[in-house]
Amino acid sequence: RIILRDIAKTFGTTPILNGVSLDIEPGEFLTLVGPSGCGKSTLLRILSGLEEPTSGTVEIDGKDVTKTRPSLRNLAMVFQSYALYPHLTVAENMLTPLKMRDLDRMERLPLVGPLLSRSKRRDLMDQVSATANTLRISDLLSRKPGQLSGGQRQRVALGRAMVRRPVAFLMDEPLSNLDAALRVHMRAELSALHKMLNTTFVYVTHDQAEALTMSSRIAVMMGGDLLQVGTSDQVYSQPTNLKVAEFIGSPK
Ligand code: ATP
Ligand code: MG
Repeated sequence: RIILRDIAKTFGTTPILNGVSLDIEPGEFLTLVGPSGCGKSTLLRILSGLEEPTSGTVEIDGKDVTKTRPSLRNLAMVFQSYALYPHLTVAENMLTPLKMRDLDRMERLPLVGPLLSRSKRRDLMDQVSATANTLRISDLLSRKPGQLSGGQRQRVALGRAMVRRPVAFLMDEPLSNLDAALRVHMRAELSALHKMLNTTFVYVTHDQAEALTMSSRIAVMMGGDLLQVGTSDQVYSQPTNLKVAEFIGSPK
């Protein structure tokens, strides 16, 4: 479980988040939605550790991680640009260069080195194959990112994150670079993937339709405040606030 407690953020003298509290249930698909500039990305960056809150705490599985480095939070951040290494194959991208370097170093050890690294490499490769299978990118493993479609690239980026078995996936508008048809297709893919993985997804979008179709729950933000949290049905049919009604009900 991820708990955000009373998160406030000020840039200079400008308040951006005014004390946001949110409990994220294990395994749920939670979408932060709200107009441009309301603080969604800032809240997600605070959760991932890329940004420190001015006040408030972040808790993951019972541990206060407010001061913990991003790399030690075991969260997977999936960026809009996917940030794949263009010179590496899909398989190498999924193994991540860090692990490759560790393996190379281990391989140079005398005697035990070759044995150790061979079994370690096989473990990692097994993990990559299983993940690639899940994402249906098995036949793309030897290609480079430049030879992939946007949707395929997105699945590779997810795959790379999955190999690390994170506590949660954090996604900030990951579909916004795709054309409309592919975006609709990828929404369905992400929902299916979420069901399959049984892992927490925290998803950020300013697109009401996207939020309503994919999420277990929606958190509606506006002007640095969290206005309502609930299922799509609850937020759509029982908005607690006129601003929520206007935002969720208004066509894009
Ligand atoms: P969008 O839907 O456009 O991505 P958002 O809800 O993700 O919007 P944020 O990126 O969280 O919005 O930004 C919230 C506010 O904080 C904006 O007014 C933005 O200009 C401001 N802001 C964000 N980062 C910084 C920063 N590093 N320094 C100063 N102001 C910032
Ligand atoms: Mg943003």
